[in-house]
Amino acid sequence: MAKKWVYLFGELDQVTSYVGGDWEDVRRLLGGKGANLADMTRLGLPVPPGFTVTTEACNFYLAERMRFPEQIWEQELAALAEVEEMTGKEFGNGENPLLVSCRSGAKFSMPGMMDTVLNIGLNEETVKSMIEATGDPRFVYDSYRRLIQMFGSVVMGLQDEPFEEVIAEFRKARGARSDTELMAEDWKAIADRFKGIFQRYSHICFPADPYEQLRLATEAVFKSWNGKRAVDYRNAAKIPHDLGTAVNIVAMVFGNIGDNSATGVAMTRNATTGDKKIEGDYLINAQGEDVVAGIRKTYPVEQMAQTMPQAWNQLVEIAVKLEQHYRDMQDVEFTVERGTLWMLQTRSGKRTARASVRIAADMAEEGLISREEAVMRVTPEQVDFFLHPQFDASFKRAAKSEGRLLATGLNVSPGAAVGMVAFNANLAQSWAKKEGKKVIMVRPETKPDDVHGMLAAEGILTSRGGRTSHAALVARQFGKPAVVGVAALEIDLGRHMMTVGDKVVNEGEWISVDGSTGEVFLGQVDTMVPDISDPWLMKVLRWADEFKRLGVWANADYPHDAKRAREYGASGIGLCRTEHMFFQAERLPLVQKLIMTNEPTVRREALDALLPFQREDFIGLFEAMDGLPVIIRLIDPPLHEFLPGFEQLMSELTDSKIRVLHARNLQEIDELLHKIEEDERILRRVEALREANPMLGLRGVRLGIMMPELTQMQVRAIFEAASVCAKKGVDVHPEIMIPLTAHVNELITQRKALETVAKEVMEEQGTTIHYKFGTMIEVPRAALTADEIAEYAEFFSFGTNDLTQTTYGISRDDAEKGFLIDYIQQGILPENPFVSIDEIGLAKLMRTAVELGRKTRPDLEVGICGEHGGDPKSIAVCHDLGLDYVSCSPFRVPIARLAAAQVALKERIKDSRQIEPAGTNAPPSPA
Ligand code: PEP
Ligand code: MG
Repeated sequence: MAKKWVYLFGELDQVTSYVGGDWEDVRRLLGGKGANLADMTRLGLPVPPGFTVTTEACNFYLAERMRFPEQIWEQELAALAEVEEMTGKEFGNGENPLLVSCRSGAKFSMPGMMDTVLNIGLNEETVKSMIEATGDPRFVYDSYRRLIQMFGSVVMGLQDEPFEEVIAEFRKARGARSDTELMAEDWKAIADRFKGIFQRYSHICFPADPYEQLRLATEAVFKSWNGKRAVDYRNAAKIPHDLGTAVNIVAMVFGNIGDNSATGVAMTRNATTGDKKIEGDYLINAQGEDVVAGIRKTYPVEQMAQTMPQAWNQLVEIAVKLEQHYRDMQDVEFTVERGTLWMLQTRSGKRTARASVRIAADMAEEGLISREEAVMRVTPEQVDFFLHPQFDASFKRAAKSEGRLLATGLNVSPGAAVGMVAFNANLAQSWAKKEGKKVIMVRPETKPDDVHGMLAAEGILTSRGGRTSHAALVARQFGKPAVVGVAALEIDLGRHMMTVGDKVVNEGEWISVDGSTGEVFLGQVDTMVPDISDPWLMKVLRWADEFKRLGVWANADYPHDAKRAREYGASGIGLCRTEHMFFQAERLPLVQKLIMTNEPTVRREALDALLPFQREDFIGLFEAMDGLPVIIRLIDPPLHEFLPGFEQLMSELTDSKIRVLHARNLQEIDELLHKIEEDERILRRVEALREANPMLGLRGVRLGIMMPELTQMQVRAIFEAASVCAKKGVDVHPEIMIPLTAHVNELITQRKALETVAKEVMEEQGTTIHYKFGTMIEVPRAALTADEIAEYAEFFSFGTNDLTQTTYGISRDDAEKGFLIDYIQQGILPENPFVSIDEIGLAKLMRTAVELGRKTRPDLEVGICGEHGGDPKSIAVCHDLGLDYVSCSPFRVPIARLAAAQVALKERIKDSRQIEPAGTNAPPSPA
């Protein structure tokens, strides 16, 4: 038997059994539009009779260099005969001739990307019978000229302009403001002129034979799959190129034959807010394209309740039915022909993030979908939307068309920020705090002593640095929108200006930074602020918590971050980077004093002065996290980071020396000499601490061993704080974490020194604090010897920023400014390993560490606190590795809760088809 290339809408059962029962395969064969038209027909909804030519036919046609597969035409003719039978009309003939539309429809919707021809079947003969049948020559000639024009542009590839010029000419002659004012004889004359244009440009006559029209239109739709528009769209939307399009041939119904006819589009719920109310537009006495073309003013669809109540009631009923069937919000097209409602299309409706969350939550409450499905339908990006201000899309589009897009860089911390450019941290802080200005802090790159400016700013922009650069890390932690590594940006700090090509921005001028996309705009772009306390989001996240297996903790250094983390649903602090506390204005000089001296007494003084600060910080953290674990990591970065930079010191020294030569009096000379002496002293120390590879140098546990007083002070502060809190009734769970361990002996040495201090403090305070002692796993050797390390560590936390750096041998600070980006663009690396855990290499190392560690200590607590902890893909890896928790910036906690639930649910339903991932059309429930 010949292969079946054509299926009537009523033959869905045959299609289903041909593809083996899977709805996704039905959609692949019939395209989304065809599958749903057939499905609506099966549901008994009013769909005009029609049939679908399959995507297989399209793929055959394209592969065989534009040759129709055998039998396809015979099958089309047979299907058409059935449609004639169902409608009681004859194609291209008879008193009441049948007209059809020919529409493309791929598996995934590609709006406006492929082609449609309406009114196929009209010619001089059928025009006459149609006029007889309808008594409406204006409508018939208008339909006829539309066919010639569409056929010209879609099938023959003619330009629209010559056609449009003719219409414009008639409008002018009639003094008409719109097409609706043109009369029957105008359209008749226009149709004649159109035929002339058709012949002039295509060198053939407009085909009068309706079958010829249908055949050419089918081929044109096939070809449109490889049209430039369609190829570009598929590339952008990542739709495979081998799917092909189906062709839907449907009996025409008309919304433009009088005031009891209409056409419209509707969403079964509000696509902006998710409100459970049909919304849409319709037009009385019009064709579908008039609604979308925006030529005529449309009316809210609910007005149909007054103008055509019967059709409206039927539409409302159908909307409910469709939602129940597809278990999702639908986007429908309909036509009312002389009071009779016809459904022309249904598909899953596009919606905003807010609507998506609300619809998922509401549908679960209504019993349409399960709570699991609701959680699966929301995407991490949609949750992210609620966490940061966003640019209004239309304002952003306008800014782009006005040429105000300045540059793009790495989108490292999402959200929109608008402010005046400030090129240094002190200025940013004083403008923001003292003058109440909105500020964007712009630097070539940021350093720890810029943090006060970053905190005061609305957003951050740097010309250098990558995803784990200081700027990115701090921005994410504090929820500041940030774009980094904008290579095109030249910053001239001396002249307080920056340039991109010939565009210049001076300090104090406005810019807008989109941390979600990496775009930077000149001037102010309007923002809107979504709300994390959205009740529907809260509901979905509460359900997510019931399904997830991974704990979600937060990286937080200060009490107010810890409070926020808890509000957002964190169940512990997975990383407190204690050194961040050292950078505050009143503390930094004490840290510098400590580093500059070799004198034990001076060192002691500095440490004694730092201790109360640290204790207060920890008290705040413990109070905020009452009842939950708090992992405190002891000092990690190389000491030179706390001192001024070598280059800066050199230039200041030279400057001071020159100024001595020009000093006006002895006092000035004295002061300058004193400064020179002090700067030289610091320079000597900076030089002594200078390392070729500081990230692989004296840092982490190595620092704790070489300068034990510092980590001992930190541990004392932790236990004093814990004791104070415990006495107040706060339930404290401190966990002391050692960074960058490579050899078990490092841990043994530190643990011994630090536990002595812990015991000492507990004895002094008369308290018993239950604590854990553990380590970060940040170098491959630690992972490979995790069995030895677990003897002395009660917990592991993967520092995947460093672990990626040390495993890949790529500097995390330089990563995104050089070859790594080229690697990704060339496909040498599938993705940036600093964004998503390298599932092959790094994950293998992590798995080894987990297995070895748990062999030694079965109850070993294992988590992750690198930036990957907030990345949904990496969260899935962590779930598979059996980690206990992921820890991420407080602002990513809600996203991580959702991602953790989704990976757990996917695992649970691996073989079941009950739950569809977000963004796909739900399969129909069995009829
Ligand atoms: C890490 O390396 O992943 C980590 C969390 O530590 P830091 O980023 O502070 O080096
Ligand atoms: Mg680290």
